[in-house]
Amino acid sequence: MSLAEIRHWVFDMDGTLTVAAHDFAAIREALGIPPAHDILTHLAALPTDEAAAKHAWLLEHERDLALASQAATGALELVRELAARGCRLAILTRNARELAHVTLEAIGLADYFPVEQILGRDEAAPKPSPDGLLQIAQAWGVAPQQMVMVGDYRFDLDCGRAAGTRTVLVNLPDNPWPQLVDWHAVDCRALRAMLG
Ligand SMILES: [Mg+2]
Repeated sequence: MSLAEIRHWVFDMDGTLTVAAHDFAAIREALGIPPAHDILTHLAALPTDEAAAKHAWLLEHERDLALASQAATGALELVRELAARGCRLAILTRNARELAHVTLEAIGLADYFPVEQILGRDEAAPKPSPDGLLQIAQAWGVAPQQMVMVGDYRFDLDCGRAAGTRTVLVNLPDNPWPQLVDWHAVDCRALRAMLG
């Protein structure tokens, strides 16, 4: 199957459709999370009160980032092109759904991703779990093989592989994970050009 034949597209948001702005090292430091630990996994293992307080801090921090979001190179044009071709579009993010919506509004893409088409960390088990992609496949009534997951990080690719979708890596000049990637584009502009 060529990229142009794929009609069902799922995007990571931060760093994929937006310019990456999260300083994960600073977030870990502020929340007392050891450098190598996954932030969401760490918070999930904390006592309820501490987890709630730290989640609240994270949400406020991410709200500021969301309001200041900038579109990644070619992201708007790519999404508009796919929508014009009649493709179905969704977002799978480790961010919160509400903040994903704020972010998409800030970069002018909210109309293309209705809130129910955005799966955040409260709607699905976080990537690299395939849960979110499998939920979207079910909602769309298509096999994962008919879908593509577009992202800028290993979790996006692992998640796609685990669910059985195709995968696209964007926004990295090189491809450090060739075994996980079906297509690699340096940015969304290049990806749009690959549609032909
Ligand atoms: Mg990302």
